[in-house]
Amino acid sequence: MSSFEFQQGPIRPPSEADSLLIRTTVGCPWNKCNFCTLFKGMQASVRSVEAIKKDIWAAKQFYKNRKFKQCFLQDGDSFSMDTEDLIEVLTTLKQAFPELTQISSYGRAQTMTKKSSTEMKAICDAGLNMLYCGLESGSIEVLKQSQKGITPKSIVKSAAQAKQAGMKMMAFVIAGLGGKALSAVHVRQTAAILNQINPDEIRVLSLAVKAGSELDKLRLQGEFEPLTEIEMVREQQQLLSLLDKVDGRYGHYHGINLLTEINGKLPENKAHFSAIFQRFFALSEQEQNNFILGRRLHYYASLDSMKNQLVFDTVTRELARIEQDKMGELEDIFYQLRQRMI
Ligand code: SF4
Repeated sequence: MSSFEFQQGPIRPPSEADSLLIRTTVGCPWNKCNFCTLFKGMQASVRSVEAIKKDIWAAKQFYKNRKFKQCFLQDGDSFSMDTEDLIEVLTTLKQAFPELTQISSYGRAQTMTKKSSTEMKAICDAGLNMLYCGLESGSIEVLKQSQKGITPKSIVKSAAQAKQAGMKMMAFVIAGLGGKALSAVHVRQTAAILNQINPDEIRVLSLAVKAGSELDKLRLQGEFEPLTEIEMVREQQQLLSLLDKVDGRYGHYHGINLLTEINGKLPENKAHFSAIFQRFFALSEQEQNNFILGRRLHYYASLDSMKNQLVFDTVTRELARIEQDKMGELEDIFYQLRQRMI
């Protein structure tokens, strides 16, 4: 490796597209969630402080005079580092890139709760001031079924610790994760935990699982019945309606969602978001299917895209062709199209 080279992990949150990426850990120390294939086959490890510091200075040389405002620490969980080591890395990072105003990382609730409040505060003071938390669900049943390895209790505790330390927190939740069997409890308990922890930002995703994932195998065995696209939007609508103590950014803007125009702030934009759901549910079944297919095939960006007659007609023809060839399998096709989007 030349002095200009440094390790890069496979993923980062979409909002970190322009960020400096520094890899502190490899893979995910848990790696058992049944819907996730991100780090499958990758041996999880914590990189040595020396190796990370070498990378930081190599990145500094590589980017020359580029000024980064944000840095994201890859891969799955920087909190699995010893606190002293993490602080040493953060200190070096601030020395090399003094203009950084935000350093972020994924953090697992179960790992963070092993740190004391004093340690969390020291980590935040050293610069790690933003946390991405894949809480996915507030329901113990759904978390267990997904083999998420965290509990609502650990989520609440880690969120409180992070907030107390001064960190900002973005929480991801996954509509449809409970399948049909656990849909009601998933929505109710997820809304309850979000109301309790009140993250600075909530991102809602729609369930999409890669072929070959454990959850997809359960589906094929008939042990997990996924929601339809429309049921998933209904869950998202119900979740929003139950959020009454959340005061932060709220977004559906990940491409895996149908209604990506839901993006703004609660509580100010709640009525506006509700109107978007109502607009979707006011469509006829045929129009809803047209919209879903148009989104899944990247013809549409939002409900407004359907106003483009030329594009609408193209999707209508595509839908008619699918319905003629594969009668009764439309939902399977939507499922497979979602699989290809992740
Ligand atoms: S969802 Fe997160 S915690 Fe679970 S296996 Fe994937 S990376 Fe690890």
